[in-house]
Amino acid sequence: MDEEMRGYIAQQGLGHIIALARCPECNYIAATFEEENSLERRDSPSPKCSGVGYSAGPAPNNYLNVANWIGEYAVIENRRDYTSAVILFCAFVESILETLKEEYLAIHPEIRLPNRRLSFKHVFGASLAESVVNAPTRISSFPSVWEELRDKRNRFLHGKSSYLISQADAYKAMDHAGDAVAVYRWLNNQYCLKV
Ligand SMILES: [Zn+2]
Repeated sequence: MDEEMRGYIAQQGLGHIIALARCPECNYIAATFEEENSLERRDSPSPKCSGVGYSAGPAPNNYLNVANWIGEYAVIENRRDYTSAVILFCAFVESILETLKEEYLAIHPEIRLPNRRLSFKHVFGASLAESVVNAPTRISSFPSVWEELRDKRNRFLHGKSSYLISQADAYKAMDHAGDAVAVYRWLNNQYCLKV
């Protein structure tokens, strides 16, 4: 991640995000700055598979931009943009969960596909909240924030009220956009490694 991006994320209250450097061999995503630096050097082993001779790629490479975008909406001081921040946050989390399901199914072809959309629990055998219960606090508490904002998004989009989404909600979406990325990395490293 370049310095400009890091600085911008810090301004948005998302300073705990680090770049999503991923090992192309085993799928592991760096969880510390030291691992990130190691993965970005071609002569260093991956923390999980000891592979050498390749450099890490970002995984997925627009997540930090989307997280920043949520923050931009939140700080604009406009009621419509507060709503946009929450709607984008919810769409972001939903796409992260879909990506995790696809990546998990890609390495577990034995899971049979029913003729309907697969839920998170169907794929992983546990709900999102159950899956992160042993994670660090900001990750394990993420599902309750996600459910709260998703309910507000749904009530707004389904016409229950035009005034449900407040500045506080937008700031909550901004504050937890980084946690959504952290949830992605944590679940990827728990469930989606090719080792
Ligand atoms: Zn690896």
